[in-house]
Amino acid sequence: MNFENYIRDIYDFPKKGIVFKDITPLLGNPEAFNALANTLVALIDQKIDKVIGIEARGFFLGGVLAQKLNAGFVPVRKKGKLPYDTIEVTYDLEYGTDILQIHKDAITKGDKILIHDDILATGGTAKAVCKLVEQLGGEIVQCNFIAELDFLNGKEKLNYPVKSALNF
Ligand code: AMP
Repeated sequence: MNFENYIRDIYDFPKKGIVFKDITPLLGNPEAFNALANTLVALIDQKIDKVIGIEARGFFLGGVLAQKLNAGFVPVRKKGKLPYDTIEVTYDLEYGTDILQIHKDAITKGDKILIHDDILATGGTAKAVCKLVEQLGGEIVQCNFIAELDFLNGKEKLNYPVKSALNF
């Protein structure tokens, strides 16, 4: 299946100069959504204990991948959203910084981890999530994305295998 046909470019969103990859047509098509999940699962060749989904667009496929892999699902969220004790990481945005959190008991030392988000752009977000997982003693097996924006070289920031269904 050509997933590219289900991802549309939105120019100047959320601000001028950005070409936003809108995955909602893909999510809205049951055959495409299921085929995408199966494609991402086929890229994993080890037992996974936990799938980490990055807020918010990493949650859609993250939960599905966890189910298909018979793994648990763990949300990483923006500061202030998780109710229990957390650890956090501050990371750089184009202007300023942001903070991501994970529940401190979400990962058991030695857990095999799959990190999932919709799009890999500069890699700053995924790298920050890797730090959270490392701090809790998780073993990152793979960082996986619906699509990578190759021209931003995000892959180079990540010290783990990176796989995705699409490259732009
Ligand atoms: P980055 O930290 O630069 O790799 O950005 C990754 C995060 O920003 C992901 O959570 C994406 O959902 C989002 N993102 C960045 N660039 C885009 C884009 N062009 N289209 C859609 N989402 C994007």
